[in-house]
Amino acid sequence: MSTQNVEKHEFQAEIKQLLDIVIHSLYTEKEIFVRELISNASDALEKLRHLKITEKNIFDDSAELEVSITTDDTANTITFQDFGIGMTKEELVGNLGTIAHSGSKQFLEALKEGGDKNANLIGQFGVGFYSAFMVADQVKVYSRSWKEDQPGHVWSSEGAGSYEVEEVTDQRRGTKIVLTLKEDQKSYASDSSIKEIIKRYSSFVPFPINLNGEKVNTIDALWLRSKSEIKDEEYTEFYKFQANAWDEPRYRLHFSADAPLSINALLFVPNENPERAGFGRIDPAVALYCRKVLIDSKPAELLPEWMRFAKGVVDSEDLPLNISRETMQDRSLIQNLGRVITKRFLKFLATEAKKRPEQYLEFFDKFGFFLKEGVAIDPTYKDELSKLLYFESSAQEKGKKTTLADYVSRMQDEQKEIYYIIGQNRESIESGPYLEGFKARGLEVLFLYEPVDEYVMSNLREYDEKTLVSGDQGDLKLDDAPQPEAEGTLGDDESKGLCEWLKETIGEKVKEVKVSDRLVDSPAMALSPDAMSSQMRNMMRQMGQDSGLPTEVLFEINPRHQLMINLNQQRTENAELAKLIALQAFDNSMVAAGLLEDPKDMVTRMYEILSQAAAK
Ligand code: ADP
Ligand code: MG
Repeated sequence: MSTQNVEKHEFQAEIKQLLDIVIHSLYTEKEIFVRELISNASDALEKLRHLKITEKNIFDDSAELEVSITTDDTANTITFQDFGIGMTKEELVGNLGTIAHSGSKQFLEALKEGGDKNANLIGQFGVGFYSAFMVADQVKVYSRSWKEDQPGHVWSSEGAGSYEVEEVTDQRRGTKIVLTLKEDQKSYASDSSIKEIIKRYSSFVPFPINLNGEKVNTIDALWLRSKSEIKDEEYTEFYKFQANAWDEPRYRLHFSADAPLSINALLFVPNENPERAGFGRIDPAVALYCRKVLIDSKPAELLPEWMRFAKGVVDSEDLPLNISRETMQDRSLIQNLGRVITKRFLKFLATEAKKRPEQYLEFFDKFGFFLKEGVAIDPTYKDELSKLLYFESSAQEKGKKTTLADYVSRMQDEQKEIYYIIGQNRESIESGPYLEGFKARGLEVLFLYEPVDEYVMSNLREYDEKTLVSGDQGDLKLDDAPQPEAEGTLGDDESKGLCEWLKETIGEKVKEVKVSDRLVDSPAMALSPDAMSSQMRNMMRQMGQDSGLPTEVLFEINPRHQLMINLNQQRTENAELAKLIALQAFDNSMVAAGLLEDPKDMVTRMYEILSQAAAK
């Protein structure tokens, strides 16, 4: 071996940063380097298994598809060897010297946000290959590609700023990684401690793992076994392995089908929703297999996007092994497969909701967002999903939730619509002006608190042939209700005069002013002139999409309210103050509707009104 061929390279800046964190800051769970290196070996073997289907000339073709680990407690080394696809020189440099691959990139991004949660992050993402540097002060990677004309190389580094690459002879196909352990990490050179770690993290790796010549894992395609033979712990272990997770699964669905497609599927719902924890959008993670051979670990087209919270495995014998993502025929096959699985999963959730409502509501609390996203964005499963939604309602106490079906069962005889109001929270809806008209008529109203709810309702449009109607919609007509008598209630002519005066005073911000048949306790309310609710309008404005939308609103007044009665009198007696009050009442109603764009005028005006009131 001549040393003239040694090439020295600098690590990319991000890798230096990552290595620095891995070596200096992450003290817990160092043992996961075993899992990471085995999973890389397994990936490389999986890729080779695939190549064997399409390629004829594979270097060292007879090598076994297995991972061999050897420990040496005199030399203080641990070695991982696989006969997978291996790496060419360019691949060694690209894969181990730059941050082109996803795991570590995500890790770094999460670190930026993570703060003191950093210690846990390594478990959630793994830092892949670089975790070797937690325990080793020297790492040598011998590798030779499956491509016959490529020589072997050794990549070596001490984890500082640089690494070296050199050509080697007599290298077998695949990769051999030799770690020289740090002084205080020598325990990883002992057979028994490594065996335990492999059992804990890598039991389900689909290739034999040999430790010092002895096979340690069971190579078990759990999803192909019969349900009755599988213990809960086995399922949980499998979930942790498959989803790279640390929690217990919340739900598990294991099923098989023969028609229209042959399917064996094992799906899990995690305990926690990682998107809610602030780690950003998650990738789909239900892996696609054909007869135990992995086809795609993150198939984007298998399941609808909103199902990205599900983990697990789908295995179908009907898929061609060399399936490509490009050809139309293969795509529709995958989509059909996805449809069958999605329907089955939705049926499962519906059964759970009925059988164990408390657990379901807990699930809905954490993962309901995804179901809502499904209704809002993808019409395919709208009907099934709408049955799985739960909302608070005026007919039930705070914290209790109801389905649309239960709402319908409580509807009044002549009632044809389902009413809902969107607001910040229950208190703001109950104290706002929109609820009172429904309350006076004994009509139930659903309370919706999440921004996505607006899209859910406008895409769902109806449920069980009943139209869904937003309570702050202007063109909503409710049946007459007896109104309480009030002293001084404005007569028809007086009201008409007041409305005209208000329209003139408020100006172009208001499209129409009229007497309300819905207000009971509040003096006035602002309504959207069209079907779009004010919350929706408000949201679109925040997203900078309001161009072209009419900003004029309907302003409805309550002729029985003392404020309107007094205002009608003031407009002749004290025109200046009356004008201020009219504008203020209008702005107040805009605040209640969430539509006030600029509160600056309102505050100045309020002071003026206060000084006039204080002067008396
Ligand atoms: P990830 O596995 O998330 O891609 P890693 O840091 O674990 O990230 O590995 C980086 C890359 O190095 C892999 O994507 C792969 O291309 C390459 N690699 C690592 N180990 C091996 C191996 N044993 N055989 C072949 N390629 C490997
Ligand atoms: Mg990896």
